Amino acid sequence: GSINHQSGPVDLSHHINSKSKARHPSPLKEIIKFMGYDGMVSLAGGLPHPALFPLEQVKFNCLTPSASLSNDRKVGSAAADPLSLTIGRGSFPGDLELTQFLQYGSGSGNRQLIEICKELTERVHAPPSKYDCLLHIGNTNAWAKVVGLLCEDNDMVIVEEFTYPSAQALWIPLGIKAVPVSADAEGIQSKKLRDLLVNWDARSRGAKRPTVLYLVSVGSNPTGVTISSQRRREIYDLCVEFDLIIVEDDPYYFLQYPGYEPSSENAVFQPKATEEFLKTLIPSFLSMDTQGRVIRLDSFSKTVFPGLRMGYFITNPVFIERLLRASEVETQDPAGLSEAFVLSLLSRWGIDGYLTWLQNLQFQYQTRRNWLLDAFYANFTVLPAANSPLPKAQGLVACVENKADGGLRPVFSFGDPEAGMFVWSKFYFQDVERFSEIEKESLEDPEQAFADELWKAWATELVLLTPGSYYHPWQGADKVSTKARGAEPRTAHFRFSFATPSEEQIHTGVKRMRKVIAKYWG
Ligand code: PLP
Ligand code: PMP
Repeated sequence: GSINHQSGPVDLSHHINSKSKARHPSPLKEIIKFMGYDGMVSLAGGLPHPALFPLEQVKFNCLTPSASLSNDRKVGSAAADPLSLTIGRGSFPGDLELTQFLQYGSGSGNRQLIEICKELTERVHAPPSKYDCLLHIGNTNAWAKVVGLLCEDNDMVIVEEFTYPSAQALWIPLGIKAVPVSADAEGIQSKKLRDLLVNWDARSRGAKRPTVLYLVSVGSNPTGVTISSQRRREIYDLCVEFDLIIVEDDPYYFLQYPGYEPSSENAVFQPKATEEFLKTLIPSFLSMDTQGRVIRLDSFSKTVFPGLRMGYFITNPVFIERLLRASEVETQDPAGLSEAFVLSLLSRWGIDGYLTWLQNLQFQYQTRRNWLLDAFYANFTVLPAANSPLPKAQGLVACVENKADGGLRPVFSFGDPEAGMFVWSKFYFQDVERFSEIEKESLEDPEQAFADELWKAWATELVLLTPGSYYHPWQGADKVSTKARGAEPRTAHFRFSFATPSEEQIHTGVKRMRKVIAKYWG
């Protein structure tokens, strides 16, 4: 294959797929520059007259960056220190002029907002190669546009062993398939990735060697894993060597926090100075991208709110130009009121204020992670995996007492996430009598059959987990069995989310889960 060791920017235009290459700018965009000529009477534009818009002013009541988000905060109650933003026009003035957000935009999003996103990018990632920014309507659609930029039908895309299902569901009708690479506590394994690339056989695989690597690199959905700095370097170097584009789908980047310490009571939020805070964040792939081969997808969904439908692409200018061509005809600018709100909020907070808000959120997710792990410690005997006989356990193992011999029986292993909203767990079925019965039925996938039964038993007790099977790499529309995936026999995964429930609900939920476990693991 093409081996490439150049360290400066390289021409990556060969990655653009044939459909994206064939996109043309709308001819209407050509005529816009003439509209700005002195004295021009334009009988050309199809923009509705702003006098016809039925909105004059909007007011947003917001929180301050370090507002108390403590568990007893009542949503919508009068804050001691509310922040009021006003956006208006004509005789309803405001902090921003409203009409520009009600009118058609250029397709790339509001200029001022793009500048803020770039400034934030400089502060946080300081990308070493030339980049540009384009607003988008959330990472879901941003990823669809990236697939529309890079992938041909029936290509293969490299993903982590367990990955975000909506990213995959998008490909099914395109005939694209996932190529999973196994991961450990530091993320996707670079040695395995290298083996895959070196040994790729297009004929037996039925597809050319993949050129796209899709990663949820911080607080992964579903595994909670953040790829380590060392691993990131190795992966980036492989992508240079084998000419891969890295798509960094990173909605949880700012939700990084320290590891769990049992019984760390009643901490209170104390923001750090911005520069100190920034040093605690793991370097992104973008921050090490000397060649311009990273496409970073940032989203405001987890940092402001998902209903905004807003985020931004950061990547090399050649890719941005093609993504803009797609945005012009697929989505246009993000919704004007969302842009107006984010621009006025970030202008008022300032970048430092926003970074303080993000620390405030971090602290909340850290607290919620603690609630869940506290509940595990309260309901199980939790041991470091190193002290257990399990071969490929995650960091910690939750055990129950074995009534027969008084020893401990491992039930599930889990990782302590240091980012995001999820705890990923691996359940061990080897000692479960009911599982042995199912095995005797010689079903195609006894692990999945028992995982389904367990899931239903939990749901009957009114506790819901996400089945691990949602996150298996999809090979077309078909689910792949435990055996065919090469997964460890007699195990299955489940995802816990600690994003929404209260502390009390988390404790109730884990207790209910424990009750079902007692029945099966006895
Ligand atoms: N990508 C990943 C990995 C996610 O976990 C999520 C949502 O949780 C999304 C994308 C969706 O993001 P958005 O709301 O920005 O479309
Ligand atoms: N719906 C959509 C469209 C989402 O983007 C998300 C967040 N990923 C969800 C639902 C919640 O999904 P999950 O529980 O997997 O995070």
